[in-house]
Amino acid sequence: MNKPLQIIITLILSVSLLSIARSQSFDLVINNGRIIDPESDLNAVRHLGVSNGRIMVISESTLTGLREIDASDLVVAPGFIDIHAHGQTEEAYQLMVQDGVTSGFELEIGTAHVGEWYAERAGGQVLNYGISIGHIPIRMALFDDPGRFLPVAAGGSGIAGPEIMDRMEKMLRQGIAEGAVAVGFGLAYTPAATETEFETMLDIVTEANATAHIHTRGGLNGLQQIINSARKTGTPLHIVHANSSGGSSIGEFLGIIQEARDTGQDVTTEMYPYGASYSDIASALFDNWESWEDDRFQRNMWVETGERLTRESFGRYRQIGGGLITFSRTEEQTREALRNPLTMIASDGRILDGKGHPRSSGTYAKVLGQYVREEQVISLIDALRRMTIEPARRLEKFVPAMRNKGRLRIGADADITIFDPRTIIDRSTYTDPILPSQGIQYVIVNGEVVLNESNLNSTVRAGVAIRSN
Ligand SMILES: [Zn+2]
Repeated sequence: MNKPLQIIITLILSVSLLSIARSQSFDLVINNGRIIDPESDLNAVRHLGVSNGRIMVISESTLTGLREIDASDLVVAPGFIDIHAHGQTEEAYQLMVQDGVTSGFELEIGTAHVGEWYAERAGGQVLNYGISIGHIPIRMALFDDPGRFLPVAAGGSGIAGPEIMDRMEKMLRQGIAEGAVAVGFGLAYTPAATETEFETMLDIVTEANATAHIHTRGGLNGLQQIINSARKTGTPLHIVHANSSGGSSIGEFLGIIQEARDTGQDVTTEMYPYGASYSDIASALFDNWESWEDDRFQRNMWVETGERLTRESFGRYRQIGGGLITFSRTEEQTREALRNPLTMIASDGRILDGKGHPRSSGTYAKVLGQYVREEQVISLIDALRRMTIEPARRLEKFVPAMRNKGRLRIGADADITIFDPRTIIDRSTYTDPILPSQGIQYVIVNGEVVLNESNLNSTVRAGVAIRSN
């Protein structure tokens, strides 16, 4: 072939290749947005193409697709991953999506029946979901505890003899075999669970390569004991809600976790951005209520009616059981927990018939609106890191599906949250906990638009089960 002809052919070829790339059409494209991906540190205007539920391209030029979203002036982030979400109902899922969440996991309490739990949700949900096998519900089942969510009787206070221990081990192994995402513990709710019982369970967690998600007991000493046990058994640990377990000692609490990490131990933690806790009034957390000073009762709110309590009403409601909100921490304690780079963001939310704690609906928008934009406690990319890639990394060693979540990278699942950084804010309150967050414009789950121009389309059921196997 002579030289001029070769040049002409090469030219024709490259022009046609270029036009193929230009005309390539995606299922969905997001143009002109500021893409923030904490895994790669990308923080720039880019254009993103999605097909078959996956991110196909992140481009410097605009793209065309069957559906095109113009994200000018908006932030395009990986969908938020909530690794502590008790509300595993349609009602809770819808509020979570409106707060930017694309995957919600209940890992602290969990369930005793993993297979059944997934089967109940198999018809498709508005977001991705997953569950742990839980030490607490296993105990509740074995001791016939009548509590609806947390132990109110022998599930927490019963001593496990050899036969119960044997059945406990079997149930734990079965839950793991059925695909549980982690193993949940709440030692504060099971005061009768001994260190031996705990370490026996941890051995099973280690053997499975899973992670133990733990609500600690006994303040700083209790935390240290748990970390020591996990070091002995070689178990990866995730300490839930450092803010409420650490309380006024939050600095020391996080310091103990940091020390363990410095020695190479796998320990992580999380927080929710609120000064009040939520639990069941009948649980072991309040076993010593009769010895409280009188003025402590009015720091507690009965969720059902919103009333502040007295010694008399506390005693009365404790007989019934139900949601209790306790105002116990200062704003500065919440900020201190957030300033520490160790804390992932997780809601610890739970909504039942419109009642509950505002964190169930507002955790993510509150961090991004109040603590990032208004108070500048942490940077935007740092906040997003704790909502996306960090929780994905916490789970992905045991749960391979998480390796494709929490990041905007070619080949990753198209779980994407698009919000306006100038207006994003939570609206839910202690008296109206189901007001959805605002400023979140689009939420995309596995490539499907579930939240469109801030309107939820709950007929889009693109959320899938996430399991370890
Ligand atoms: Zn919780």
